[in-house]
Amino acid sequence: MSTITLDTLRKEFDSGDERIVAVDDIDLEIRDGEFLVLVGPSGCGKTTTLRCVAGLEDVTSGTIRFGDDDVTDLRARERDVAMVFQNYALYPHMNVRKNIGFGLKLSTQQSSADIDRQVEEVAEMLGIEDLLGQKPKELSGGQQQRVALGRAIIRDPEAFLMDEPLSNLDAKLRSQMRTELQTLQHDLDVTTVYVTHDQTEAMAMGDRIAVMNDGTLQQVGTAEAVYRSPVNEFVADFIGSPSINLFDATVDGNRLDGPGDFGYRLADTTPVEGYESVRVGVRPEDIELVADGIDIETKVLEPMGNENYLYADLGGHELTARVASTARPSPGDVVSFTFDEDALYLFDPETGEALK
Ligand code: ATP
Repeated sequence: MSTITLDTLRKEFDSGDERIVAVDDIDLEIRDGEFLVLVGPSGCGKTTTLRCVAGLEDVTSGTIRFGDDDVTDLRARERDVAMVFQNYALYPHMNVRKNIGFGLKLSTQQSSADIDRQVEEVAEMLGIEDLLGQKPKELSGGQQQRVALGRAIIRDPEAFLMDEPLSNLDAKLRSQMRTELQTLQHDLDVTTVYVTHDQTEAMAMGDRIAVMNDGTLQQVGTAEAVYRSPVNEFVADFIGSPSINLFDATVDGNRLDGPGDFGYRLADTTPVEGYESVRVGVRPEDIELVADGIDIETKVLEPMGNENYLYADLGGHELTARVASTARPSPGDVVSFTFDEDALYLFDPETGEALK
């Protein structure tokens, strides 16, 4: 177990005559035993960051430490980390027993009997003890993923590094494996860095979430912190499903005026002082339908079972609201909404920085 510290980590790639900055001087501390999720849109540098930690990429500048040890120049196999990838990377000609035990056989002097015993323990932990004689092609995606995990666990590494390990599984199995992985990680208490582009997965799994965009770290915090107190418009927009509603509004004293019928009187004007206009954000789940509020025109109603998603028009902007399953406006119906000031997000229109 150890803390992993990234200090001004930078990774550039040459691509033709261009220099691509995949990781742009990031500072990040992953705590001992923590489950940290790196999340962000495609191409933001998550995989490259993870590969630098694994020792699979040379860094351009900056340092990587495991505990007090500077590992920046160590090769991958000298780092004592275990990687789990989305494509499992199992050996097709070996059965499950051999796939799980292979790494130990290579790296230790242990007897076959000792290795077998450990393979059986790990297989039992993962519920695949009946599959030890099977070849990968005879296994389902979920079973193959468990074998890949088994191979990582048996090495008892300093850290697990996981790159979208569940993305090849169907939705139901993915959510089951999320829970299993979390329980397992908690029991093993091994520092884990987990990469995903799926913010729902990040929210569900991470002790903390590190949101990346364009090679830079935007915010690191608990699911609740990044959801409720996003530092900027990017994080507010990326975290939450369906996405937050965002639009421009002019500021006049305590009054905000936005598209269509949008008007709102602020009780607290401190955040907007000095601004002529701001970006306004309201999450779909914070919208409340009321008799006399801001008018919107219903476009589509999507029943979700326990609630409905309402897609409506607000002066040419699409506004999404999560409403009660009993609320059933028809397309063309004008309904009216409000929200609490606590649920209002305000951002600088130039920089996107949160104003409160
Ligand atoms: P995804 O979710 O799509 O895997 P990501 O967030 O993991 O994306 P990276 O794979 O780390 O992003 O890529 C970051 C940037 O670096 C991208 O612009 C990518 O095209 C570029 N990149 C990654 N690897 C290389 C490489 N070997 N050579 C050149 N450019 C690369």
